[in-house]
Amino acid sequence: MSPEMSEEGGVIVTKLNDLLNWARLSSVWPMSFGIACCAIEMMGMYASTYDVDRFGVFPRPSARQSDVIIIAGTVTFKMAERIKRLYEQMPEPRYVISMGSCSNCGGPYWQHGYHVVKGVDRVIPVDVYVQGCPPRPEALIGAILELQKKIETEQLITI
Ligand code: SF4
Repeated sequence: MSPEMSEEGGVIVTKLNDLLNWARLSSVWPMSFGIACCAIEMMGMYASTYDVDRFGVFPRPSARQSDVIIIAGTVTFKMAERIKRLYEQMPEPRYVISMGSCSNCGGPYWQHGYHVVKGVDRVIPVDVYVQGCPPRPEALIGAILELQKKIETEQLITI
């Protein structure tokens, strides 16, 4: 809870924005979506070893129920169109984590991969980048924690 919150006589006083942000950052739902080898590490993160449920992270099978899309793998030009469509189907506010070198900048295909987009941020806006080829599940958990920090400071309601 943020420092503004206080408890007096069983009543919690807080700002509406803080309350909404706390609820949103405690229920970050990623889309069940993977493209290439990085997706194996992403699936590893969802496994019981890491127990990401404790952060409120539950993969969802539909773009319309998802808060975040994790781009885990090589983004080809053919796939870029699908990624953009899925992103546009997500409700706002929506977030993007770019996982791994391929998604960040083209990775091993940077020089000769004529079919590979040199960074998914050329297609959709990215909130958090995760480096590595592939990044380990711990690194992806770190990205989710970074995203939660970002959500915590957002001002969804302005009066
Ligand atoms: S960054 Fe490495 S592990 Fe991830 S999709 Fe590209 S080649 Fe595979």
